[in-house]
Amino acid sequence: HEPKPVLEVSDLCVAYGKVEALHKVSLRIREGEIVTVIGPNGAGKTTLLSALMGLLPYRGEVAYVGHNLDAHVEVEERVGQGLTLVPEKRELFAEMSVEDNLLLGAFHRYRSGLRDHAQTMEEVFALFPRLKERRTQAAGTLSGGERQMLAMGRALMAKPKLLMLDEPSLGLAPLIIKEIFRIVAELKQTGVSILLVEQNARAALQVADYGYVLETGEVSLEGPSHELADDPRVIETYLGLG
Ligand code: ATP
Repeated sequence: HEPKPVLEVSDLCVAYGKVEALHKVSLRIREGEIVTVIGPNGAGKTTLLSALMGLLPYRGEVAYVGHNLDAHVEVEERVGQGLTLVPEKRELFAEMSVEDNLLLGAFHRYRSGLRDHAQTMEEVFALFPRLKERRTQAAGTLSGGERQMLAMGRALMAKPKLLMLDEPSLGLAPLIIKEIFRIVAELKQTGVSILLVEQNARAALQVADYGYVLETGEVSLEGPSHELADDPRVIETYLGLG
């Protein structure tokens, strides 16, 4: 049988003042799927994730595991329902240890009376052994790749149903990028659904099941990742020779 949709977005529009950054964007993510949104700088990828997280006002419909999330549903409520975002800028607490940054990710569950953070942290450490080695180190002293791992680990501490990753490869060296995408693929095995926004189209299409191309705020192409990766328009504009 077909996996159930986790997120269904229909005709999403977002404007900054009078300037429309997203125009009638529709997309769908099913249970356990990795869906990627690729597109150039300024296409609206970050805007899309911010809107879905409840950080920006929007018009259009967002159906998330059956609930209708209209624009006024607060960020916290979304986190409580299993939506998490790993922001492009990582947004870690530099002075705090790796462990304390991770614990912050479990805050919402803790406040709801759930006390499984120690167990969840062990699961995160199993995915990211490097974070375990550095558990007492201040986040601000980590390398770029380790910071990305910590940002992902912190999001996982919330035990999300839908994990949204904003350009996880940004600013990282090729070997680290490989490692990050290997972990994204591994995460899929845990059953979490993933919405992956990337400028690195090649790596994103390799790991994803389905993809959307976003250009100047609109979806210009979509399809199974392997089909997109073979599409001459995608090859010419996003895969090039690189
Ligand atoms: P990048 O990969 O460079 O982050 P992106 O695809 O994530 O690009 P967005 O950051 O979502 O693109 O930006 C989409 C458009 O909205 C751009 O034209 C951008 O200049 C504009 N924009 C983004 N944030 C704001 C803001 N706070 N106020 C006004 N315009 C904004």
